[in-house]
Amino acid sequence: MCYSRAELPVATVRSLNHNTPRLRSGTRLMRGGGWHLTNSGLPVWVRGHVVRAWLLSIRRRPFPSLGDAPFLRVTALALLAAVLFVLCFSASAHAYTTEGCYWPRVYRGESIPWTNYASGPDAQSFFFAKNAWNAAPTPVYIAGSGNNIQASGAYYGNTGWDGITYYSCPNAAVFVSPVNVYENDYYTNSYSARDAESVTTHEFGHALGLNHSYCGTLMYYGTGGGCRPNTPQGDDVNGINHIY
Ligand SMILES: [Zn+2]
Repeated sequence: MCYSRAELPVATVRSLNHNTPRLRSGTRLMRGGGWHLTNSGLPVWVRGHVVRAWLLSIRRRPFPSLGDAPFLRVTALALLAAVLFVLCFSASAHAYTTEGCYWPRVYRGESIPWTNYASGPDAQSFFFAKNAWNAAPTPVYIAGSGNNIQASGAYYGNTGWDGITYYSCPNAAVFVSPVNVYENDYYTNSYSARDAESVTTHEFGHALGLNHSYCGTLMYYGTGGGCRPNTPQGDDVNGINHIY
């Protein structure tokens, strides 16, 4: 069986997070142009200037005092935000998933050879990825020249992924060399160095046997939006230590 793991580029993640039109009731809840329900239940498209009017009306209001309905609403929203925050980060403590594939070399105490076919900033991103994984407290080391992992970077166009990993492991067991990891410059050329590194280090996570995990981990599926760091976190390290 052959598999691929692709990531959503930053623009897609941002649109999923922030730009999706929302159907809501009540003009006061509008935070941007979009669909909303009138009192008679008809959906209407409201343009962005409603937001500015709403924000101005907020600024004119005095801060709500204890016992007021607005105060209770603000408190309820703050509690909800706190619960979501805790859920996001506590769930990620044991959130890793695996592909079921592994490198037997690691069990023999050998490193995993690789070749960096990329050049320029892409090559630097892949070196960063290798070093980030080698610095993590796991038995895995990517070192030496060979084709177990092949890293490439180029302008692959509007593919819908900024990074992708192609791998094969018959019967969900041992990786068949090579595992190919790609960085798509179509997207990453406009990324910060950190976001580009988070793409390559994430793809190396796939090349070591990890599948996707939650916000706050390296194995989160999307770039941008502040969810994914550029180095392995505790959950990612636990996943690798579980595999090996
Ligand atoms: Zn991925």
